[in-house]
Amino acid sequence: MKRKRVPPNMAAQVLLTFGSDCWLDMPGCTHRGTETMDHVKPYSLYGPTVPSNLRPACKHCNSLRADRVVSGFGAQVTAVIGPPCVGKTAYVRDHMAPGDIVVDPSRLAVACVDGGSEAHALADTLWGSAYRRVSRMVTARHVWLVRALPTSRNSPNMLAEWIALNYDVVVLDADDQLLRGRMAECRRGREDVELLKRWRRLGITQAKVDGMLETRRTQLSRLRLIDGPSSPPAVSARPRW
Ligand SMILES: [Zn+2]
Repeated sequence: MKRKRVPPNMAAQVLLTFGSDCWLDMPGCTHRGTETMDHVKPYSLYGPTVPSNLRPACKHCNSLRADRVVSGFGAQVTAVIGPPCVGKTAYVRDHMAPGDIVVDPSRLAVACVDGGSEAHALADTLWGSAYRRVSRMVTARHVWLVRALPTSRNSPNMLAEWIALNYDVVVLDADDQLLRGRMAECRRGREDVELLKRWRRLGITQAKVDGMLETRRTQLSRLRLIDGPSSPPAVSARPRW
């Protein structure tokens, strides 16, 4: 990845203004913000090397973030998560606007092969490539990320990474009886039942996610990157319940 050396006097000024804690606070953060200067708008995406675009970051988070854009500083990202058959694809269809970008494994699976576990594995790979691409978009588009579990082999705690990057997160859920009934109808088999069990083990609720986002948005507002913790994302797409 392209890196730009930050002049020591500029780094000192940034540390003086924003303190020495790591601004990213991603999973595994060491909080040693004196280790690197991170470009808020990534250098590789033409983010300038000026104090207002620099924040202290630990090496670990700087490398984990790579050059992903913070939501709203380019693309506005909404992640929609939940167990299989809960209606994530339909939710996005009902809330998206023309021109929005949707990264949805169900739609990718349909596009590759007509269902089956091989199609799902292929869809997962395609999802990963699409995510790498859209997470680096600096144009102001609304991106919808659809995924059952906010976790992957490379990112076991993808949800916390998304919160750090200020993605809006919509949690869809329903009771097991309803979900299992739907799964039986579309004969999706054991894979989805296993996915449902893993989803339950994660114990994710909208209330928990909202709490994490509020904490993160308070940090981001202290870092002078957003107006305030309650400032809604530019594109609001949360379910009303
Ligand atoms: Zn860190």
